[in-house]
Amino acid sequence: MARGSAVLSERTAQFPSSWYAATANPHPRYPELDGSKDCDVVVVGGGYTGLSAALELARHGFRVVLLEAHRVGWGASGRNGGHIATGFNQSPSSIAALVSEGDARRLWAMGEEAKALLRDRVATHGIDCDLRWGYFTAALKPRHLRELAETVEEYRDRYGYSSVRLVEGADTAAVVDCPAYIGGMVDAGAGQLHPLNYALGLAVAAADAGVAIHEMSPVDRLEIGDRPVAVTARGEVRARYAIIAGNAYVRPLTHGAWQTMRSRIMPVGTYMIATEPMAPQQAAGLIPSGVAVADANFVINYYRLSHDHRMLFGGGVNYSGVDRGDHGPLLRRTMLRYFPHLADLAVDFAWGGNVAITRNRLPQFGRLAGNVFFAQGFSGHGVALTGLAGALMAEAITTTAERFDIFARLPHRPFPGGRALRTPSLVLAMLWYRLRDRL
Ligand SMILES: Cc1cc2nc3c(=O)[nH]c(=O)nc-3n(C[C@H](O)[C@H](O)[C@H](O)COP(=O)(O)OP(=O)(O)OC[C@H]3O[C@@H](n4cnc5c(N)ncnc54)[C@H](O)[C@@H]3O)c2cc1C
Repeated sequence: MARGSAVLSERTAQFPSSWYAATANPHPRYPELDGSKDCDVVVVGGGYTGLSAALELARHGFRVVLLEAHRVGWGASGRNGGHIATGFNQSPSSIAALVSEGDARRLWAMGEEAKALLRDRVATHGIDCDLRWGYFTAALKPRHLRELAETVEEYRDRYGYSSVRLVEGADTAAVVDCPAYIGGMVDAGAGQLHPLNYALGLAVAAADAGVAIHEMSPVDRLEIGDRPVAVTARGEVRARYAIIAGNAYVRPLTHGAWQTMRSRIMPVGTYMIATEPMAPQQAAGLIPSGVAVADANFVINYYRLSHDHRMLFGGGVNYSGVDRGDHGPLLRRTMLRYFPHLADLAVDFAWGGNVAITRNRLPQFGRLAGNVFFAQGFSGHGVALTGLAGALMAEAITTTAERFDIFARLPHRPFPGGRALRTPSLVLAMLWYRLRDRL
């Protein structure tokens, strides 16, 4: 499909409507599971995590069946901001306070490996997903700038990561032309991509490697035992191992599994809009460096330009679980606060999805049994980390769980109360952080 044409692909209707779905590369449709299958590993969930695990396992000669409730990339993997961030949603020093110094350093190194893995897969499998490098975290106030200066120092001096630099004052406009910014951190090692096309490309790579992918095949029940069984409406898969990769969209699988996993994550709504295309010169003036941008607020605004010169603007969080459906106009208002000169641009697409957050905003890896693995709770940092999560679950099955267990040692506490109780307290906390962002 010609880039920038925004031609609706034949299958768009089956993904939530978004600019990504409208510009999806042509892709195969994978059949629904019908009947019984036997394999080495059954993977539940066809986002980046599940696809990555399946691809890696198939490369090692394992027979893999992947079951996806909708279409591959239907979940957060096909709707996200497309920002490839460095590290985790916590500073390395905060992570070092939770685990040993050695583990903190290994986690940092694996965060870097996650970005390298993504880069490598895009190149190896020729995935056409508009991958670009360069990232900017924008400071809106002196406190942000001080914190970003500390981050630059920490990354460079303690972790040997030299891709970051601080920008201040008038130099900021050469990166992004927004008068509200007083500076920020440029990270040449982070970047952006078309998230759905990346997911669709991973699926093709996995299928080529021998993975049997079944779409429209929600797993209603996972029977845990020597040979886990994933049961769908029209079939079942018996395997030696199971991987659960449903993240924010995970459905109840077994009572125990649901409780153990679901109590540690909270699905949170976040939203995006895509404007109509602007003139190429206007786009070049807006973000002259072409980077993806996120501001340093707690409730962040994140944005970038599409290859056809649209503003893809994301932000807002919704803890209530109730989607009022008005996020398009709200986000547009937020965008115009920073870029009033975009007022003439219509919004062509508005969509949203769920991010799974954990209490400490670090991913949770674990086992429901010796042969049942899961990884979830990427807390808005999943574009790169999910690929690594899948690869580490595969590694735990094919060779050693040593690196998987470094992640599994990150301590995670359940959210207090059920959904009814945890939601009001999160809403209150968020109101506080919003207020703090504004002060
Ligand atoms: C609007 C938005 C913006 C975001 N922006 C960014 C960003 O810019 N950068 C970043 O790093 N992260 C971002 N994220 C987060 C990121 O997208 C996720 O961390 C990541 O995609 C998670 O991938 P996943 O494979 O674990 O889960 P998903 O992609 O959600 O895939 C899970 C899949 O499992 C399937 N599933 C669940 N239960 C079952 C079952 N029982 N049977 C069969 N299938 C099942 C679901 O249908 C779904 O397709 C954003 C998320 C959203 C929603």
